[in-house]
Amino acid sequence: MLSGTRGSGTIFFGNCNLRCVYCQNYQISQDYGAQIFNEIGIVTLAEQMLHLQEKGCHNINLVTPSHMVPQIVQSLVEAVPRGLKLPLVYNTSGYDSPEAIRMLDGIINIYLPDLRYASDDYGEKYSSVKDYVPNARAAIKEMYRQVGDLVLDDEGIAQQGVIVRHLILPNRRAGSRESLTWLAEEVSPTITLSVMSQYYPANRAAQYPELARTITYDEYTEVVELLEKLGMDNGWLQEMDAPINYRPDFKTPGHPFESAGNGKN
Ligand code: SF4
Repeated sequence: MLSGTRGSGTIFFGNCNLRCVYCQNYQISQDYGAQIFNEIGIVTLAEQMLHLQEKGCHNINLVTPSHMVPQIVQSLVEAVPRGLKLPLVYNTSGYDSPEAIRMLDGIINIYLPDLRYASDDYGEKYSSVKDYVPNARAAIKEMYRQVGDLVLDDEGIAQQGVIVRHLILPNRRAGSRESLTWLAEEVSPTITLSVMSQYYPANRAAQYPELARTITYDEYTEVVELLEKLGMDNGWLQEMDAPINYRPDFKTPGHPFESAGNGKN
């Protein structure tokens, strides 16, 4: 849907506005000293977007962009007059200021936010922010107001819309029931979902006994049954074997997901 046949032009921004104890991308999201990408300027970022377009990518996929919004917009001011036309994907933790999202109205084509928690206590305990739930919910509502349901082209490649990513955590720590019910009732049951079962205890998760395992079949089935009950059938649901297939390593040369034989959404 984003990758198609020619790939998604993914640009990872170093660091993240969350500090998830189980982060699978911690090598670039939380480990400042080991950052493997050099700082680049506004013009270079614009040129990299144009380069990805020249290579034939289907879109520009901005990963963890929330702390870089002003710089991204400045780069677009440079890149668009030089011919950048691809759809822009805003691929975020969901912890976004609703005001910042409002300012991106008319700029971003596809929003790809996480919805990680339904409890601010868990947001603080596992991701170090006190107000995840109200911000993520307000941001997702604003994203949906702007671009609505997912629109695909004739080849099945996303052109516009919102895709909400939800990672099932062990011991119901992601609040799947509450979050998915909220989405269906307060946003729309037609919103597109990417429900992921790929959790494994990466980074510092082993220090939290309740997070120190993959999810169980019962936890997975509970979410599948809930989706059916809510009538939410737009999107993707990972199979139960996902944890062994999704283990990115940003220190190996080439694509970080290559060794796992799979990629990001
Ligand atoms: S939001 Fe994603 S990238 Fe950021 S710390 Fe959490 S798991 Fe890592």
